[in-house]
Amino acid sequence: PVLLEISDLHASVDDLPILKGVNLTIRAGEIHAVMGRNGSGKSTLSKVLAGHPAYTVTAGTMRYRGTDLLGLDPEDRARIGVFLGFQYPVEIPGVSNLEFLRVATNARRTAQGQEELDTFAFEDLVQERLGVVQMDPAFLERSVNEGFSGGEKKRNEILQMALLEPVVAILDETDSGLDIDALRIVAGGVNHLASPDNATLLITHYQRLLDLITPDYVHVMASGRLLRSGGKELALELERTGYDWVDQELARLE
Ligand code: ADP
Ligand code: MG
Ligand code: MG
Repeated sequence: PVLLEISDLHASVDDLPILKGVNLTIRAGEIHAVMGRNGSGKSTLSKVLAGHPAYTVTAGTMRYRGTDLLGLDPEDRARIGVFLGFQYPVEIPGVSNLEFLRVATNARRTAQGQEELDTFAFEDLVQERLGVVQMDPAFLERSVNEGFSGGEKKRNEILQMALLEPVVAILDETDSGLDIDALRIVAGGVNHLASPDNATLLITHYQRLLDLITPDYVHVMASGRLLRSGGKELALELERTGYDWVDQELARLE
């Protein structure tokens, strides 16, 4: 079944068009990678899917299992199973990571008709899932992301994903340059959590993450649209040829 259907999606920030007609269909069991040069609109796509208030959808649709995401605020999108990793590496002083994760997990459980977990039951669940990210339990007592390194934030993000069990996970690797340990954790978590019932959209600037996670489909973003799509071999081709062909193709389009 189709989990996420993005059709002719256009989005702007301060009246400046950034997404210019994105089309993408993601089915259960699939891993998709979106690649592209800096500034091509990759992070904007993930922020628009998340419902970031700075971005205005000006045309097109994005449907999750038939439901128009546009009508839902970011929290509701998360509750129904759309996970947007980058959204949470914000610092929330004074709120322990454990408590933050418990609130988020219970919101998701409630939406799925499952009972809420009390502190003790939640601690058991967290202990079990900590193994996915090889995270030191001491992180749970710290304030949310306060003073976390980039790699620790990323681990925390994958821990959150392991707890929320999203149906569609959207992960923006960001251009901040994760070290190899953080990459392995992200990749290990994604591979561990991928199942025939869910799907992953990986947004990545580099091939290196795709050495660890094998995508079913690779899409090349340029100037706010997905210019070319293919299988995992497209990522390897990009590694060899670079993005010069993109300019030629864009020149034809624009
Ligand atoms: P990528 O993730 O592929 O590097 P982005 O989606 O971050 O690209 O950015 C795409 C383009 O949109 C860039 O030119 C960027 O400067 C612009 N852009 C993105 N977000 C904003 C914003 N909030 N305000 C102004 N310009 C933005
Ligand atoms: Mg980006
Ligand atoms: Mg990514």
